[in-house]
Amino acid sequence: MRIILFGSPGVGKGTQAKIISSELKIPHISTGDILRQAVVDQTPLGLAAKEAMKKGELVSDEIMIGLIKDTLNNSECSNGFILDGFPRTLLQAEELDELFDQLNITDVRIVIISANEDEIVRRLTNRRACKNCGNIFNYNDIKELTSCPNCGESDSFYQREDDKEDVIRNRLKIYKKNTEPVLNYFQNKKNEIYIDGLAPIEDVTKNILDELKKADKKITA
Ligand code: AMP
Repeated sequence: MRIILFGSPGVGKGTQAKIISSELKIPHISTGDILRQAVVDQTPLGLAAKEAMKKGELVSDEIMIGLIKDTLNNSECSNGFILDGFPRTLLQAEELDELFDQLNITDVRIVIISANEDEIVRRLTNRRACKNCGNIFNYNDIKELTSCPNCGESDSFYQREDDKEDVIRNRLKIYKKNTEPVLNYFQNKKNEIYIDGLAPIEDVTKNILDELKKADKKITA
């Protein structure tokens, strides 16, 4: 199965993508994670992306489209994938469609998760990441811990530069301007699934999996 997880920053895409990736045994492709790793490794991609990421701005379409073409052409993605963080502009959405055509991919599901802006700002400012494994936690869940519950690394929690409130506001502004228009593009395709991101994490996962099953039945019926 091929899934695009779509929604504003902080809506829970990363969390849900990790769970669904392990449930459905398909790779989780997070463009944000790939870029963050490239920044740490100081690769040419990382060096090109670093400044835009720090300010919460978008990395250029040219770089991102090249990155996604390389990734989806990899054999690891041949039986399915869950895309998290791509597409983020109309051009990326169009190029992705073209790539799907070239790869003969027709079974794409677009899962659109939504939540209101106040909740998103609250979630993102409370977010902490582990600098060793990259897992994301709520500050209240880890504030008394001295090591990461996922990988065991000591004193590894930090607040991402782009999770500070002024950068969050900028990311949301950019989402509205550049990314929200992609919704109209998706609406014409009639393969979208709408999910309320305000429900508890387990309920959101269940709703996504239920809706994916329903959509599959419609296709095979
Ligand atoms: P994320 O973890 O998905 O919020 O991504 C973190 C940052 O990586 C974003 O704020 C952008 O700077 C950059 N980024 C990730 N995916 C894309 C994309 N599809 N297009 C442009 N920039 C991206």
